[in-house]
Amino acid sequence: MFRKNAERGIISLKKEKYGVSEGGAPLYYFPSKNKCTHLLIAGIHGEEPETTFLLSRAIRFLRDSLDHVAFVLCANPDGMALGTRGNERGVDLNRNFLTTNWLPEDVLCRLTLESPRETRLSPGKAPLSEKETGALVSLIQKLEPKLILSMHSPMACIDAPLKSKEVKALENIFKIPWVPSIGYETPGSLGTWCSENNIECITLELPRIALETMETDFAVSFAQWIASI
Ligand SMILES: [Zn+2]
Repeated sequence: MFRKNAERGIISLKKEKYGVSEGGAPLYYFPSKNKCTHLLIAGIHGEEPETTFLLSRAIRFLRDSLDHVAFVLCANPDGMALGTRGNERGVDLNRNFLTTNWLPEDVLCRLTLESPRETRLSPGKAPLSEKETGALVSLIQKLEPKLILSMHSPMACIDAPLKSKEVKALENIFKIPWVPSIGYETPGSLGTWCSENNIECITLELPRIALETMETDFAVSFAQWIASI
């Protein structure tokens, strides 16, 4: 069923545009053939290209769109092009969703897991002030998935309210533990927005690992999991 490596140079799934970024880049997603129940989202933080890379490597095994799984490979194309966590306007998109706990204060980020939280980003001038978050919310509201997988790195854990069968499968693939909470406040995050809108959200924090090793260690098993959900 999976394509051979010789065919994995390109993505063969149909792609659709769901919006435009603040910097004018197209926002693409790969729709499911029928009603979407699972939406996988990578690349919302531009400094985490391994999320986009791994998801791309996995879906390049697929010959055709899946029946009910849809994909956003890069929710923050400007940040990815600039190599920055935030978008072109310096907004951390994962703090820009409309949630009851959204805060106008600067977001404090760290440059590595060992660094202090001292690098400032904006949460946006208001919730959903950024084109990328507005377009993503519209896409989710259109697709109405029951489960969203939000991909990040490199905290090496799976943050989800429940240890569901999907969480257990991801624990086995990535050899990382489930945590019921990430351990710090994430006001305005996609995960919080999902919980307030009754959508199950699993935040997959990939382990710290080289891009090339991901192909060997995870691409096949992650693709098999995607094809099985
Ligand atoms: Zn992240």
